[in-house]
Amino acid sequence: MIEPAEVWLVGAGPGDPDLLTRKAEALLKAASVVFHDALVGPGVLALVPEHVRLVSVGKRSGRHSKDQRSIDALIVEAALAGERVVRLKGGDPSIFGRATEELEACHQAGIAVHICPGITAASAAAASLGQSLTLRGTARRLTFVTAHTQKGKVLSLDWQALADPQATLAVYMGKASAAEIAAGLMQAGLDGATPVVLVESASLPEERRFATRLDLLPLAARTALGDGPALMLIGAAVGAAAQPAKTAAGKSALGLTPSL
Ligand code: SAH
Repeated sequence: MIEPAEVWLVGAGPGDPDLLTRKAEALLKAASVVFHDALVGPGVLALVPEHVRLVSVGKRSGRHSKDQRSIDALIVEAALAGERVVRLKGGDPSIFGRATEELEACHQAGIAVHICPGITAASAAAASLGQSLTLRGTARRLTFVTAHTQKGKVLSLDWQALADPQATLAVYMGKASAAEIAAGLMQAGLDGATPVVLVESASLPEERRFATRLDLLPLAARTALGDGPALMLIGAAVGAAAQPAKTAAGKSALGLTPSL
């Protein structure tokens, strides 16, 4: 399934090993070396057979990690040495996964490289919520956006384009920029009452879900989440099933509703 001197960029999905594709699992078993991200769940790594070399090239913001060029070099070097290489990436490799750099590094070295898709965090989050990301007549557009900024740079997104009441926004790597995201979208005209759901560690046992609204997002992102990777879903569609819990006094507790 993997030839010697060949590379596969494999989507590990959101964490739950049952959300791995059968092809991904077969590739893990056929590899001679697996280079994986920090985001890949332990349950997925446990599927890698003992005889396969497992190398962490983990990247989590703010923590020590290998830079992208060293990762590219490692993959190329292993393939040139005749290994059957799997580069295992969280979610889907083609979504905010630096896949292009790795593909290009392989192409330049004349190495055959392929992609095995995975379930992206937005799909896993929607599944955990029991909700749809699109809603006929209401959410006609689904935008995947990253709020990641390079060190020392300010977040610069096209807020006018993003502040579409008929869209669902799935914001990756947005936790640290929650205040800028809320301000940017509201200044561009999106209603402060727009529903927002934060989903941390979607599909894993430690998953947390939190329903709030756009104007309360900065507070929620500071107080409701732990250390895990978190996705923000913003838009009317995610409010459709996220009904506010009632407090004992019968008042709406929307805004700070711990898990749905
Ligand atoms: N390629 C990945 C995304 C990599 S960017 C994918 O397709 O899912 C890393 C970001 O993805 C995290 O900062 C977080 O915003 C999101 N993410 C990844 N796994 C997640 C999970 N299990 N739960 C919630 N968000 C997740």
